[in-house]
Amino acid sequence: MSDQLDLLHALPGAVLITQEGTIQYANAAAVALLEVESAECLIGRQSGEFVHLVDQIRSTQRIQQVADPDQDGRPNKSSEFRICTAKGHLRMVLISSVAVEWHGKPAVLMCGLDMTHQSEIQAQLRESEQNFRRLFENMQDVYYRTDANGVVQHVGPGVRRVLGYEPHEIEGRTAESYYPQSKDRDAFKAAIQQTGEVSDFPGQMVRRDGSVIDISISSHALYDHAGNFAGVEGIYRDVTQRKNLERELHRLATTDMLTGMANRRAFLEAATQVYEKARADGAPFALLMLDLDHFKTINDELGHLEGDRALAEFAHVVKAQLRATDVVGRLGGEEFCVLLPLTAHDQAIEIATRIMHGVACTPLTDETGRPYRITVSVGVGTISPHDRSLRDVLDRADQALYLAKNRGRNQIAIAPVDGSPK
Ligand code: GH3
Ligand code: MG
Ligand code: MG
Repeated sequence: MSDQLDLLHALPGAVLITQEGTIQYANAAAVALLEVESAECLIGRQSGEFVHLVDQIRSTQRIQQVADPDQDGRPNKSSEFRICTAKGHLRMVLISSVAVEWHGKPAVLMCGLDMTHQSEIQAQLRESEQNFRRLFENMQDVYYRTDANGVVQHVGPGVRRVLGYEPHEIEGRTAESYYPQSKDRDAFKAAIQQTGEVSDFPGQMVRRDGSVIDISISSHALYDHAGNFAGVEGIYRDVTQRKNLERELHRLATTDMLTGMANRRAFLEAATQVYEKARADGAPFALLMLDLDHFKTINDELGHLEGDRALAEFAHVVKAQLRATDVVGRLGGEEFCVLLPLTAHDQAIEIATRIMHGVACTPLTDETGRPYRITVSVGVGTISPHDRSLRDVLDRADQALYLAKNRGRNQIAIAPVDGSPK
């Protein structure tokens, strides 16, 4: 053994012996190549520390491969790797490795020949490094790589701008730590597991200052040479501005600007969903159809602008009577609909009465200081087992509203589940 070590020590090529990635032995050429003081400085460190980021995955795979029993102790074919020395210099090293025993335990012996000074390779190396650094440092996106447990192994400098952390503060922690809730990453993990990659996958992350940003992730799964999942590599970017714009566009497309209520289309969409759920659950559900009384007269006497102000005030009064789960929409002109989930017949009448009284009791004043009031008629409809769709409930509430108008307005009429309205 000691003869063999003397021989290894004297070899012109750099020799490292590692166990589970940790350096156990380094010869004189390795000490010189990695630019450390002595072999002792290397013992106990990870050999991967000296491998350049772009070659790390390939290097790990090759070490795993050579240790694989299927390899039958054959050495790896030599391959070039970029090595960063302890003094930060880059070297191009031709490395071959072979499985050996070291103090009775399996180990890997790596032998490297410094090829850096071959001028052509050196020039290429410098250029590729410059290109890589330029791209990496200026990338708007955040490059990241995790291991199989989701622990971040490497993150690019873009993370300073996107999350407000230094890369070293993120490395070593789980990717989940930066999600508002750790389970928020489950959908991403499921997608990666299913297809091996995701593109423009939506999510949210928490910045150092506590603010939540919208992100979009494009990543792929990494596998070791045996095909086992070994982690994820990809990029994510801050898409908060785009998402805010999308949210604003959605708000504009679904909201009635005068009253701030859902517009007709958005209301009917929401109502259909609540109706379907109520039907599936066998839960109660009620609809109020509202139409302002003699509103033409308000417009004729006070002007269209004052009519608009009265509509906005009316919306205010209605909303004040509703719960967060209720949905209210402006179906058109001065016609409105309120959807009351989990609400039985009697409770619906109670709410309708409160709205009707609230509207009638609200004092309004026009621009000249003249006081006036408005009233509203309400038709109430509830879900029936015979309904084919939401339309049937809407029609019943409409018929009830027609009845309330005919009976003199400023009142409520109820559509029975079967038969004519009361
Ligand atoms: P009824 O009691 O039978 O409902 O009488 P009405 O005058 O309210 O009749 P109807 O509901 O048919 O008329 C709706 C009127 O509401 C017509 C229109 O002048 C007015 N209106 C509709 N949309 C707006 C609006 O956005 N602003 C204003 N100021 N008026 C509107
Ligand atoms: Mg009206
Ligand atoms: Mg009307």
